[in-house]
Amino acid sequence: MTQVKMGTKAVWAGEKDYLVHGATQVPVVLSVAYGYEDMDEWYEVAIGNKKGHIYGRNTNPTVQAFEDKIKTLEGAEAATSFSTGMAAISNTLATFLVPGDRIVSIKDTYGGTNKIFTEFLPRQEIEVVLCETGNHEEIEREVAKGCKILYLETPTNPTVKITDIERMAKAGHAVGALVVVDNTFATPMNQNPLALGADLVIHSATKFLGGHADALGGVVCGSEELVEKIYHYREINGATMDPMAAYLILRGMKTLHLRIRQQCKNALALAKYLQTKDIVEGVYYPGLDTHPNHDIAKKQMKDFGGMLSFSVKGGMDTVRHLLPKLQFVNRAANLGAVETTVGPARTTSHVECTPEERAAMGIPEGLIRVSCGIEEIEDIIADFEQAFKHAEDAIKVK
Ligand SMILES: *Cc1c(COP(=O)(O)O)cnc(C)c1O
Repeated sequence: MTQVKMGTKAVWAGEKDYLVHGATQVPVVLSVAYGYEDMDEWYEVAIGNKKGHIYGRNTNPTVQAFEDKIKTLEGAEAATSFSTGMAAISNTLATFLVPGDRIVSIKDTYGGTNKIFTEFLPRQEIEVVLCETGNHEEIEREVAKGCKILYLETPTNPTVKITDIERMAKAGHAVGALVVVDNTFATPMNQNPLALGADLVIHSATKFLGGHADALGGVVCGSEELVEKIYHYREINGATMDPMAAYLILRGMKTLHLRIRQQCKNALALAKYLQTKDIVEGVYYPGLDTHPNHDIAKKQMKDFGGMLSFSVKGGMDTVRHLLPKLQFVNRAANLGAVETTVGPARTTSHVECTPEERAAMGIPEGLIRVSCGIEEIEDIIADFEQAFKHAEDAIKVK
């Protein structure tokens, strides 16, 4: 599969080994256990000397087909999957971190990840250092003091800040750290962190990979050696991906390249439109040349992704008038779906934070996150146009 392009891989990778009865589609195997008549074969599979399945918490054919597809797209030796993106993150951290260890990351990680850093890891006597997102010098300084893991996310949620993966991977490896990148926002279509030097790449498969907001999942890709350790932690601790979820995500991934292409196109057009509106204070999108790290984004991403955010004059008051008037959006906490999805950052990505914490992270209370869908962009812009008119009138009469 290395010789073909990404769109072809998205359709074909990971499927063939799992087909049965001449079916052209991977089956959903719901069986919890796998039977053996030959006691020696059973033993050989159980101890891992022979390929096969024993018990659904460990492995499952439908789940493996998903793992094979994503590992091909990320150019990884191996992948292991999880019930959710957060399970992928927490299990990966738990696999490698022990009391006394130090981890360096950024302030703008996904809200749940940030909670692991601020609430759960310190409880286990793991030192967490969170640097200003996008401040490469600060990250390098902290990493140089020594750390077990350098954990990055780029672009970030919700202000789509960009970190230079190649540069940070060099800094991490200089002190023997594992470099982990959450690639959920970019997807493998736009960015391959392993090719940029990272050791592990994580996805919330719930988002763009699945793409239809109907299945939860997470995955970690990397070398056989590292992934085997994470797999072992997960097979014992049990945050296993459900076979039905694996099937839905696998099916979603077949159209990943088409969806992402349209979502990137819509995001850039919407970002440019938003820049023309007086009521809009700031527009955050790595594809705009006004973005502070547009050059880094251009260097490490093929396209700039379907996520953007913008802040409006009048804060939450304006948001309250604006968002309910939009017709072709879901007002919801998820992202990466075929429908355009919007929500205030304070209600979605950073609901776990206090207003003070959000302010410290540079997230205005009136910041709106947009996950662009695959609709026709003319309709989405017309929709925003009428909603802005309504919001402007409503605020004026008050
Ligand atoms: C949603 C998300 C997660 C968590 O994924 P779940 O599947 O909801 O657990 C992690 N990182 C990023 C960037 C996300 O957007």
